[in-house]
Amino acid sequence: MKLFALAFGAHPDDIEMSCGGTLSMLHRNGKPFGMVDFTRGEMGTRGNAAIRAREAKEAARILGAEVRVNLGISDSHIELNRANLIKVVEVIRKYQPEIVFAPYREERHPDHVHAHQLVSDAVFYSGLRKLKVGKFQAYRPKHAYYYMQHRTFEPSFYIDISHDYDTKVASIQAHKSQFFNPSSKDPQTMLSTPEFMEYLLGRMRYHGRVAGVRYAEPFWTPEPVAIMNFDSIV
Ligand SMILES: [Zn+2]
Repeated sequence: MKLFALAFGAHPDDIEMSCGGTLSMLHRNGKPFGMVDFTRGEMGTRGNAAIRAREAKEAARILGAEVRVNLGISDSHIELNRANLIKVVEVIRKYQPEIVFAPYREERHPDHVHAHQLVSDAVFYSGLRKLKVGKFQAYRPKHAYYYMQHRTFEPSFYIDISHDYDTKVASIQAHKSQFFNPSSKDPQTMLSTPEFMEYLLGRMRYHGRVAGVRYAEPFWTPEPVAIMNFDSIV
């Protein structure tokens, strides 16, 4: 199955929070995308692997993902090694995305940093014909765009998610075990406070304001972005 885009996240709610609006926009525009989680998020203070798998499936349905793959790497053990690199190469070759989305290179959680490096390396290595792993042919995505999580950066570009804001919020809230839920008996975390959701929504609004739209998601890329025409400039 060929997909237009593949979004990678270290933990099962990372993609939703960081580029869920962009993925929803792709789906509305008929561009098929997939989601790839490195881990099951089993080291999280709230929920467990089984609960989080169910929530991830529901969030993927809300965003309109064709597939949601879990690489099955242990949470908090995303190591920079050959075995993990090959897992990423194989999933890129299988789905042949034009674009991959992944965490930005500098992050508070080491899992995010390592996920960044593995995806960045795999985007290159997956294109090497003589690198024979698994059953899929060599393939290199055209673009790698890195999304914002805890640490901020000067964005290379923004995606207008004004029409996708509600869908994005619903996909985040599908992770019921992780975010604010007054009926949960799990210990409180930074993410589960009402203030965290307020912060997330405020940041989307802030980036929208900076970009001249209502809500936006920021991305960074090491290579310049070429614009084909001005039709979609808002
Ligand atoms: Zn994460």
